[in-house]
Amino acid sequence: AVEVRGASKWFGAHKVLDEVDLTVCPGHVTVIIGPSGAGKSTLLRAINHLEKLDAGRVTVNGVLIGVREHGTRLKELSERAILAQRAEIGFVFQAFNLFPHLTVLENVAAAPVATGRATKTEARERALELLAQVGLAEKAEAYPGQLSGGQQQRVAIARALALRPGVVLFDEPTSALDPELVGEVLAAIRALAGGGTTLVIVTHEIGFAREAADRVVFMDAGRIVEEGPPGEVLDRPRHPRTREFLSKVL
Ligand code: ATP
Ligand code: MG
Repeated sequence: AVEVRGASKWFGAHKVLDEVDLTVCPGHVTVIIGPSGAGKSTLLRAINHLEKLDAGRVTVNGVLIGVREHGTRLKELSERAILAQRAEIGFVFQAFNLFPHLTVLENVAAAPVATGRATKTEARERALELLAQVGLAEKAEAYPGQLSGGQQQRVAIARALALRPGVVLFDEPTSALDPELVGEVLAAIRALAGGGTTLVIVTHEIGFAREAADRVVFMDAGRIVEEGPPGEVLDRPRHPRTREFLSKVL
C-alpha cells in the first residue's frame, strides 16, 4: 500500500500540496482528477521521490520515504534506499521518454540489467512477455522513432513493469496522444488493472475513471476535496467544487 499522511509542499510562497492524506490499497486502481495546477503531478512525484515534501510522510509497503515533520530536520533516506524504493514504483509519464538509440526490447530490459536484478537473458525474456502483454511483441526490434505515439506509450508501460513494481503511477498517460490512439493505451492500462496491479492514475479521461477506478480522488488547490467510489464522486458528487469541475469536463 501507498500511504500519504499530511503531505505538504511549497514552491516559494505557493502551497501546492496542503496536508494531503491518501491511502492506496494493494490491487486497487486509484484515479486522481482535478483542474490544472491542483497538485496532482506534484503528489505523484512526491510518491516517487522526485519531489521532496516540506511536511508529512509517504510510506510504500510500510517503508518510509524521507520525512520532515514540522520544525524538525529532514530525515533523509540514503540514495541506496531511495533507489530500492523506486524499483518498487513504476512511473509512466505524459511524454514517453524512451531511449531513442535503444530498441523497444532494450528499452524494456534496460533497468533490470542495470540494477543487477536480472541477467541479460532473463531481462530479455521478461521484456518479451511484457511486450506481448501490451500487444507489441512484433515490435521488439524496432526503435522508438519507428512507432506511433500510442505504441511508444505502451512500450513505456511495459518498461515501467520491468522491475515488477508493487505500484505503478501514471501521470496523464494519454494526454500527449492523438485522440484515435488514446483507446489502445487505456486498454493496456485496463488489462493491468484486471491483473491486480496497484495503479495510481492521473487522467482527464472521466469515462475511463468511471469504468476502471476502484476509487476516484478529486484534488483542487493542493487538497483532496472529495474521494470515493466512481459512482459517488463522478455521479453524485457531494462537494460543489467537484460538481463545478465535472460540469466542465463531462
Ligand atoms: P496539470 O493538470 O496542469 O498537470 P497538476 O495538478 O499536475 O496540473 P502540478 O504540476 O502538481 O499540477 O502543479 C501544482 C502547482 O505547483 C502549480 O501551480 C504549478 O505551477 C506549481 N509548480 C509545479 N512545479 C513547480 C516548480 N518546480 N516550481 C515552482 N512551481 C511549481
Ligand atoms: Mg500534472
